[in-house]
Amino acid sequence: MNFNELGLKQEILTAIAGMGFEKPSEIQAEVIPYLLNETGDVVGLAQTGTGKTAAFGLPILQTIDPKAKTTQALILSPTRELCVQIAGEVSKYAKNLPMHIVAVYGGEDIRKQLKELDNTPQILVATPGRLIDLMERKKVHLESISYLVLDEADEMLNMGFLDDINTILERTPDSRRTLLFSATMPNEIAKIAMNYMKNAVEISVGKKNEAAKNVEHYYVLTKQSTRYDVLKRLLDYYPDIYGIVFCRTRQETKDVAEKLMVDGYNADALHGDLSQAQRDSVMNKFRLRALQILVATDVAARGLDVNDLTHVIHYNLPDDRETYTHRSGRTGRVNKSGISIALVTPREKGAIKPIERVINHPFTQMDIPSGGMVCQKQLYYMVEKMQNLEPDKKLERYMPDVVELLKNMDRDDIIRRFIALQFNQLLEYYHNSVDLNASVQQEIKSSKQGRVSKGRGSRGSDDHDEPKKSRRQMRVVDKGDTLRLKINRGRKDGFEPKRLLGLINDVTGDKSIKIGDIDISPKFTFFDVDKKRVKQLIQAFSSNHRAKGYIIGEVKGNR
Ligand code: AMP
Repeated sequence: MNFNELGLKQEILTAIAGMGFEKPSEIQAEVIPYLLNETGDVVGLAQTGTGKTAAFGLPILQTIDPKAKTTQALILSPTRELCVQIAGEVSKYAKNLPMHIVAVYGGEDIRKQLKELDNTPQILVATPGRLIDLMERKKVHLESISYLVLDEADEMLNMGFLDDINTILERTPDSRRTLLFSATMPNEIAKIAMNYMKNAVEISVGKKNEAAKNVEHYYVLTKQSTRYDVLKRLLDYYPDIYGIVFCRTRQETKDVAEKLMVDGYNADALHGDLSQAQRDSVMNKFRLRALQILVATDVAARGLDVNDLTHVIHYNLPDDRETYTHRSGRTGRVNKSGISIALVTPREKGAIKPIERVINHPFTQMDIPSGGMVCQKQLYYMVEKMQNLEPDKKLERYMPDVVELLKNMDRDDIIRRFIALQFNQLLEYYHNSVDLNASVQQEIKSSKQGRVSKGRGSRGSDDHDEPKKSRRQMRVVDKGDTLRLKINRGRKDGFEPKRLLGLINDVTGDKSIKIGDIDISPKFTFFDVDKKRVKQLIQAFSSNHRAKGYIIGEVKGNR
């Protein structure tokens, strides 16, 4: 089936063709013809990322009257982010229609929204709480509503909006069509459907409560004390990862993100202690892929509109199974496959079975990649990147000289040496790395024998098996023995002394380099380094993949 067969207006077809939609997704192919040709309500069981916004958005645009200055469609969604995302998406579909679409949500100055409502929107996207507030101020009028959409209904209930939803449903005309979308089907949702919906058909993509079909579900067994090392190992094993690491608490989110940043990963944290502006900034960076790894709590990640996640990692499994469905549904979106990996201790392994029943899909146990596997993967990744690279034309002028200089070396030797330039640090780091699988097996064995193994169950114990990368202590260096260096990160990037020290540890793999005074300006950080080690430091920064994006150099002249 293609979009032309659905009976949609040319204006809509042109808009979605411009967005690159080639054929309707599964939910669209089911919901759009039903809404256009039948009269009943719809209960849609679908994950985010299945294309459900267009599934309800296109028929709404097709049937409401752009000339009538009344609000004819109301879309309720749980979060500000999702509201903005839906309004943005529907506006794109409505590009060629004279349609006014407004989003109203909590957490933003109401005056701006009041002003936007002066010009009555035909389509209103809202969070329930803010909508009730605006209804009480008589700024929104629901008597002409012909479509009411409850999007991510299970999330709205999780967030305590049940009473608000009931109030809103009561205030809209009985003649409306109600469309309810939810990833899962708890009893409360079935109750809403029973009380407020007429002739509803249930349309589900995949089976009820099933996680997105194109997601592969894995778990790795870890000791509590090596959980962070296992995470790092996985991140190293997937060098092109673009994913979310889910944590259970804000504190855990902060700790994991901070450690990853210190260890040189392109990661940041998203949690409820951040201001709205900070959250927006992190989400934006992640959306634009300027950030590779987002460490987040479930609540903060709600409504984050990001497609094409390659991985979802559960640093800890959530307490309830439906949250697992939501988390893993963020990968494996429209026509793409994804990987969900849960880190579990032998004791937590029991939580896997009940989740398998809910998602109706088995988990596969995955071995923690060995150091050798990581090196191999990174090497192939680099070779592939090299093959796809467009070399800068400016290189051409140096080529004859370089070719002349290398003329006596054979091809293999040249390749070997260029790879060594990039990889010696990584090989060194992983040379003595521990088999993390063996260490957890050892723990299982000793617990079976009734012995209490060291560190078992003790959160945050220091029993790490990876080569230790403890934080460097600042050492006092005599100024006469130092040189001042500068790096292209500063306060504006959230750079602090401990991040600089962590970065140096990570890139050089050598904790004995003495660092003196550190001064941080908005865009740069200046620091004193033992003169004898400057060359080593600069060389490490120019050859180690962990130093990607960092530029380091000597500060000439005045200190
Ligand atoms: P949604 O589930 O509505 O949040 O949609 C997820 C993403 O898929 C959005 O970025 C849409 O623009 C995109 N999308 C929706 N329908 C299609 C389609 N038929 N083909 C390709 N992409 C789509």
